[in-house]
Amino acid sequence: MPKRLPKKQYEAYYKAVAARDGKECHLCGKTPDQLVHPLEIDHVDENKNNWDIDNLRFLCKSDNTAKGNRNRAARRRRAAESLATGQVGPGANNIYARAHPATRSLKELAEYSKGKPAMKANFLMEPKFRDFVLHHIGSFGPTPPEELELAGAEYCGSQPRTARNYLAKMTSSTGPLRVVEGEDGFPVVVKRDD
Ligand SMILES: [Zn+2]
Repeated sequence: MPKRLPKKQYEAYYKAVAARDGKECHLCGKTPDQLVHPLEIDHVDENKNNWDIDNLRFLCKSDNTAKGNRNRAARRRRAAESLATGQVGPGANNIYARAHPATRSLKELAEYSKGKPAMKANFLMEPKFRDFVLHHIGSFGPTPPEELELAGAEYCGSQPRTARNYLAKMTSSTGPLRVVEGEDGFPVVVKRDD
């Protein structure tokens, strides 16, 4: 989890980037007087803990948001691909094994065998959703809940509303995940013990 930088330090980096590049967005060239929001310091390598001056540049809020969205979409794609091909990223193995459908309890199996179609759908979709979410967080770290809901729903073929219920179970007090405030102030989902 990246640490938020104290204001004074952030300002020092801001000044250093401004001195090197001038106060303008690296992508669109807009300056503060042309923008509603202040310029943001972007980490070129995506590592929010890497404050090496060579790794820093200014982006306007809209270019920074667009970059974040592109990265999230790419992470989502990679997660779905690696899950589909059974290639699991480093550190994700244990989580993946724990959530694997093969570990379903006998009780669930008994309920499934006498269940209604909706229950059968849940039986198939929910473990798939759990796999996806645990794998995603294991591989890519803290993730906004709405991203997990949408990508997970797409992956397991459920309605987004159903995915939200699955995620709510996973982030309940007995679930393997919890919701915390991310570095930008918006909620993100992390593993409970992180
Ligand atoms: Zn820009």
